[in-house]
Amino acid sequence: MLKSAESVWNECLKIIQDNVNPQSFKTWFEPIKAVKLQGDVLTIQVPSQFFYEWLEEHYVSILRKALKRELSNDARLEYQVVVDNSSQKNGPFTVNIPTATTNAVKTQEMPASMVMGHQIKNPFIIPGLRKVNIDSQLNAAYTFDTYVEGDSNRLARSAGYAVAQKPGATSFNPLVIYGGVGLGKTHLAQAIGNQIKNLYPNKTVLFVPAEKFTNQFIDALKNNSVNDFIHFYQLIDVLIADDIQFFANKDRTQDIFFHIFNHLHQSGKQLILTSDRAPRDLEGMEERLLSRFRWGLSADIQVPDFETRIAILEKKMYADGIELPRDVVEFVAYNISTSVRDLEGALVSLLAQSSLNRKEIDLDLAKKIIKNFVKTISREVSIEFIQKAVCEFFSVQPEKLKEKTRKRAIVQARQLSMYLAKSYTKNSLKVIGRHFGGRDHSTVIHSCQAVKDMMDTDKEFKESVQEIEKKIQLSIT
Ligand code: ADP
Ligand code: MG
Repeated sequence: MLKSAESVWNECLKIIQDNVNPQSFKTWFEPIKAVKLQGDVLTIQVPSQFFYEWLEEHYVSILRKALKRELSNDARLEYQVVVDNSSQKNGPFTVNIPTATTNAVKTQEMPASMVMGHQIKNPFIIPGLRKVNIDSQLNAAYTFDTYVEGDSNRLARSAGYAVAQKPGATSFNPLVIYGGVGLGKTHLAQAIGNQIKNLYPNKTVLFVPAEKFTNQFIDALKNNSVNDFIHFYQLIDVLIADDIQFFANKDRTQDIFFHIFNHLHQSGKQLILTSDRAPRDLEGMEERLLSRFRWGLSADIQVPDFETRIAILEKKMYADGIELPRDVVEFVAYNISTSVRDLEGALVSLLAQSSLNRKEIDLDLAKKIIKNFVKTISREVSIEFIQKAVCEFFSVQPEKLKEKTRKRAIVQARQLSMYLAKSYTKNSLKVIGRHFGGRDHSTVIHSCQAVKDMMDTDKEFKESVQEIEKKIQLSIT
C-alpha cells in the first residue's frame, strides 16, 4: 500500500512524542501539517520561518531519527513556510526550504511582502490624532545587545527576536513572557520594543506596566474619558503590557484590555505581555482573556544556570568598565543563584565596598561581602526558626507545639508562632497548620485572631510579641 504524507508523519509524531516534553510537543509539533510525500522526501508545513529554524536547531536529530525509521536511510525533510496572515491583504505565500544536513541553519530572509506596515482604517480615530507622537516609555538601556542568552531564556529570547523583526507577522501574537521576579522579563520585553523602534521608526510602540494601565483606566472612568482612553490604545502598533498578573480580579480593567487586545490583534498589531506566572496559573482572570493569551506563544524564563550567571556578570563588568578576578566572578555566580537582579545587586555591593575601602577585591573580601549580601536577600525566615524563637522566649519545648496539650503557656506559644508564621513567611494557612502537628487552616485563622485580640488587651503580651519580632527581623536583615 502506498503511504501517504499524513500517515508517515503521524507515525513520526508518535516517535517524537516519546522523546520531547509535552509542552514542547504541543508548541512545536502539533501545528505542523504534512503536505506531500514524494519518494523519500516528506514535506511538512510550518507556520513561520522562526518555527522552521527552531525545529532545525533543536529537534533535527529526533526528526531525522523518526524519518529514517518511517521511510528509509535516505529520507529527507522539506519545509514549507506558510504564514497565515489572514488579517492582512497579502495572501499566504510559500517558500520551500530543503532540510539542512547539519544543525547550522542560517536565517533566510523573508520576501519583502512579509514586512508589515499596512495602515488600517479606523472609524474611531479622529483624523489628525494618528500623527501624534506617542512616547514609547522604553528604557534605551534594555536591548538585545545587553541581554545575555542562556538555556534559561533561549525560547523567550528567540521568539522575542523573531517578533522584533516582524511585529504582528509571526505566529507569536501575543507573545507572553513569564517567569519569576528579577529574571529578565521586563528587560526582554523592552528589548523587543527598542528593536522594533530601530527597525520600524514609523511604528508606534508603547510599553505600559499593567498597574499603570489600570490606573489610567480608573482615571478615565472618573473623568468620563473612557472613549479617549480606548482610542489612544487603538493607535498603538506594538503594545507591551508588563506584569499582567496585576489585572487579576480587576474585572473592569480586564474587560477594557480584552477589548483593546482584540482590536489590535485583528488589525495585525503586535502584543507582548509579561507575567510572573504561566497564563494557566493566573487566577482571577477571565477565561476569554486567558484564551486570547493562548493564541500566540507563551515562553518562560527560568533562573539562569551557572555558566549564564558568569556570562551575565562579565557582561555587566564589561559595560561598567570594571575588572574582577576570575575566581571572584565564579564565587559570586556560584553563590547567588536566585535571580539576575540579585546577581547585579551583589556586583554593586562588591564595587561599593571596594571603593569605600580603596581596596582591590580579592576572593577573601568577596567572601565577606557576599556572605552579608546573601543574608539580606534570603528575606524569608522559616517556620522552624519562628517556633524556636517563640519557644525560647516562653521557655517551652518546641515539640510541645505539635502536641495536643491545652496548657495555657503552650497554647499561647503555639498561637503566637502561627501568627508570626503567617506574618513573616509566605506559607499558606494549610502549610502552617501542618507544621503544628497537622492542624487545619481554620485553627490557624483562629490563632491569628486570638493573638491580635490579646495584643489589644494585654500590654505585657504585646511587648513580648514585639521582642520576638525584633529577633526575627534581625535574622533577616
Ligand atoms: P523581571 O522583569 O523579570 O522582574 P528585569 O527584566 O527587571 O526582571 O531584570 C532584572 C535585572 O536583571 C535588570 O537590570 C536586567 O537588565 C537584568 N537582566 C535580567 N536578565 C538578563 C540577561 N539575560 N542578561 C543581562 N541582564 C539581565
Ligand atoms: Mg519586571
